[in-house]
Amino acid sequence: MDFSSLGLSEPIAQAVLEAGYTEPTPVQLAAIPAALAGKDLVVSSRTGSGKTAAFMLPSLQRLTAEPTIKARGPRVLVLTPTRELAVQVTDATKRYGKNLRYAKAVSVVGGMPYPVQNKLLSAPYEILVATPGRLMDQMNRGRIDFGRLEILILDEADRMLDMGFVDDIEAICAALPKERQTLFFSATLDGQVARMMQRLLKDPERIEIATAQTRHDNIEQRLLVADDIGHKHRLLDGILRDVAVDQAIVFTATKRDADALTLSLEAQGHSVAALHGDMNQRMRTRTLDQLRRGHLRVLIATDVAARGIDVRRISHVINYDLPKVAADYVHRIGRTGRGGDTGVAISLAERRDVRLVRAIERYTRQTMAVHTLPGLEPRASLPTEERRPAGPRRDGRSFGNGPRFGDRRPREGGFGAPRFEGDRPARDSREGGHAHRAAGDARHDGPRRSFGQPAPRSDARGGFGGARFGERPAGRADSRPRREGRTFDRDR
Ligand code: AMP
Repeated sequence: MDFSSLGLSEPIAQAVLEAGYTEPTPVQLAAIPAALAGKDLVVSSRTGSGKTAAFMLPSLQRLTAEPTIKARGPRVLVLTPTRELAVQVTDATKRYGKNLRYAKAVSVVGGMPYPVQNKLLSAPYEILVATPGRLMDQMNRGRIDFGRLEILILDEADRMLDMGFVDDIEAICAALPKERQTLFFSATLDGQVARMMQRLLKDPERIEIATAQTRHDNIEQRLLVADDIGHKHRLLDGILRDVAVDQAIVFTATKRDADALTLSLEAQGHSVAALHGDMNQRMRTRTLDQLRRGHLRVLIATDVAARGIDVRRISHVINYDLPKVAADYVHRIGRTGRGGDTGVAISLAERRDVRLVRAIERYTRQTMAVHTLPGLEPRASLPTEERRPAGPRRDGRSFGNGPRFGDRRPREGGFGAPRFEGDRPARDSREGGHAHRAAGDARHDGPRRSFGQPAPRSDARGGFGGARFGERPAGRADSRPRREGRTFDRDR
């Protein structure tokens, strides 16, 4: 089955071929004909499943026909939770629409200077890709005319709701023509998402390719137990020195931790940079560019910045801090194993993190295999969890007492508030730990190197015997591609 047999015109099928896609992914196979038939769609599919083309190709097809209403604004609007994802969708759209005359795509995202954005919006364009916050700003300034809008796409709707964009989305939708096609993409389709679907969609066709919990069969999930923060740091250093690590993303809980860890790994000779919401757009773009070009080996990121990163060479995802929301774990590990490759996801957990580990395992319905690094074995294994929760929840949050895994921080204004990245109190002991290397760990000591120079790796494979750490599982477990992104900083 090729793309033209899905009902796409030759210029679009040709552009897709030039993008290197020989056949549609399952979500494309299901969604493209339904969208071409003009139906509203609700699509849940796993990260990196090829969903951008699933919504953009039929939208581009629509643009090959003359608009029925004469106006200046967009004919297609895509809402995404993060700037990174918006930029990625815009880039993909430009590739898929390159043979079409009237398919100009512009993005309106937070962090972009207003004069630049105003200029983009004042020239003719057909497709607008935007984050809700900045789009609302531009709408309030009267810079967007939705008079001829035909298609609304919500990409990662669940993440947008998670980030507190519900009011913005409602306000944006209220400003759009009622006669339109709506394509709703979301990893989860329950709770608040289901209520929003009811409000926005007309008799939608439901396409469920797979849920967030489906197995990332091409990603090997491992767990390393750490005694304390110093041990954790040595484990990370050990992992990163393995030659099997091509490029890696290391996740921390806060922006502050990301910066501290970056400094400390840099001092240990790793090619490393941070990516988080406190950095300006130019720095973020530059860092991502370095990652894509292979000039950077290790990216230290918060959940914010990492959603949407689609870099084929990322062989390893490392959870230095476990995510507080189990669904985020799935998004994080989806940064590796892109385009059907295999990948390795390694979570570092201290014994007190046991409940987070178990909540993630219940959510993914998979267990993380416990591994050790020779010479860095923990003194004890993870304890068994004291309290068993009632059962798996489908929203990626967990159960139990006290401040719970998955709990949103209460804020003035009540429930459902966006959780802001970096709002966790500083953990002095931890930050001290980043900068500190335990005495006696001479194994990884080495000369300082300049940025970009590869860190000395554990080529002497003896260091990682048995279930070898950095090794990626053999083979292509799944020929389907994957990908994804999100932020907690409001994009204003
Ligand atoms: P997406 O889920 O849209 O972010 O896509 C994930 C990755 O898969 C991106 O790198 C796409 O370029 C790639 N991709 C999308 N569709 C196909 C296809 N039909 N064949 C091969 N790769 C694809």
